Amino acid sequence: MAAPQMPTPDPNPEIKYTQIFINNEFVNSVSGKTFATINPATGDKICDVQEAEKADVDKAVVAARAAFQLGSPWRNMDASQRGRLLLKLAELIERDAAYLSSLETLDNGKPFIHSYFGAVLPSVKDLTYFAGWCDKITGKTIPVDGPYFTYTRLEPIGVCGGIIPWNFPINMFLSKMAPALATGNTVVIKPAEQTPLTALYLASLVKEAGFPPGVVNVLPGFGPTCGAHIAEHMDVDKVAFTGSTEVGKIIQAAAGQSNLKRVSLELGGKSPLIVFSDADLDTAVEQAHQSVFFNQGQVCCAGTRTFVQEGIYDDFVKRSVERAKKRTIGNPFDMRNEQGAQVDQEMFDKVMRLIETGKSQGAKLQHGGSRHGDKGFFIQPTVFSDVQDDMTIAKEEIFGPVMSIFKFKDINEVIDRANNTTYGLAAYVFTKDIDKALTIANSVQAGTVTVNCYKPVIVQAPFGGFKQSGHGREMGEYGVYEYCEVKTVTVKLSHKM
Ligand code: ADP
Repeated sequence: MAAPQMPTPDPNPEIKYTQIFINNEFVNSVSGKTFATINPATGDKICDVQEAEKADVDKAVVAARAAFQLGSPWRNMDASQRGRLLLKLAELIERDAAYLSSLETLDNGKPFIHSYFGAVLPSVKDLTYFAGWCDKITGKTIPVDGPYFTYTRLEPIGVCGGIIPWNFPINMFLSKMAPALATGNTVVIKPAEQTPLTALYLASLVKEAGFPPGVVNVLPGFGPTCGAHIAEHMDVDKVAFTGSTEVGKIIQAAAGQSNLKRVSLELGGKSPLIVFSDADLDTAVEQAHQSVFFNQGQVCCAGTRTFVQEGIYDDFVKRSVERAKKRTIGNPFDMRNEQGAQVDQEMFDKVMRLIETGKSQGAKLQHGGSRHGDKGFFIQPTVFSDVQDDMTIAKEEIFGPVMSIFKFKDINEVIDRANNTTYGLAAYVFTKDIDKALTIANSVQAGTVTVNCYKPVIVQAPFGGFKQSGHGREMGEYGVYEYCEVKTVTVKLSHKM
């Protein structure tokens, strides 16, 4: 297949939608409140967006519940037709790829090239993948004891809330929405307050694609108000959350204290990336670099603890510094730039604070460590060597462009150290020795392990965390079942057959 043609970025995309999306209509907030969304590359306001709070969530849930009623157009729709609607949405996203990529870059600060290749195109793939599932979600017949015929049905759960972060706004929106709709649920999704714009545009495409009113509802707003009300709502049947472990715990507690809604959580990480001395060094250096710096380091499964075996340690550090020096950073609409801006002032300050902690606790700053330029939220690619396991930067999720390189001697030691974390999202290993690779793959406590590559998220394969990185899986077949209830039906027969 020919590579898709790179579209031309538009640094000033027209802002078409700034209202709340309920029942296939854009409406103002009940309170009349709005909030500003900021361009991270300049620090300037892009526009004001209607702010959804409790009353707006209630309206959206009523709409989503009505759309889910037995006999509604959505419930009566053939599963194959749901698949066609998802494919139609994928087509519309492809049609508007240049616009959506520009809007994502404007609102999030990531390079246009990543908005296109890393957000828009993968989202088309996600939709296509889940569209294929719609009419292939089957139950089982079960050979039970006695004169009975027993089968299972996989049914939609109901109204599914989605609360998503700002680091991959388009991907997160669709990775919550696509499996939920493929399995026949309705959704109420809150994009992150930092990046509401692409979700609202996608809402307009949902309507254009022909989804019935109320099936998809989009509520821009803040976490403690809008997000919290989704999590505590008595008429929301499931909440899927991606974000910090801290907020994940709040959401799980709210679900428990309200109606025991189903919960799936994709949370933080501090993923080890282990390089043995027999690894292909060029590959390991480049992949380790990408695993830390991609998306300005704002990736939950980033390989933020780079463990390097002692024989190649100095060489690896030297090459990683050379690579970081070459990293191009600046205007995200300039196609030459690999790195854009951090999402907002708060994240910028947090990353800078953690860099200072690294310095003060004795890690060796090999490169970077300061802001880049004099406006917007840009941070130099930063490399620390000689990082020790008890330092703050070894334990806390930084969520910024900061590489921390640790030295290790042997495999047992590195397994212990890799697992010495409250997180368990991903792990990466680089070696030519299959035995070492599989020993690591089998020993690390992580939901995803990749060998000789940085490839954490693949739409056909499950993704999710061990330990405090969350529970439940997104993507792949497991991701489909997260949105289903299993029903067992048993019929009395006159004879045992
Ligand atoms: P980050 O630290 O990456 O911004 P958060 O976990 O704070 O991650 O935010 C992820 C999402 O969770 C955002 O949409 C945010 O608005 C939402 N959120 C934050 N606090 C709460 C809360 N108390 N209840 C529900 N959602 C929340």
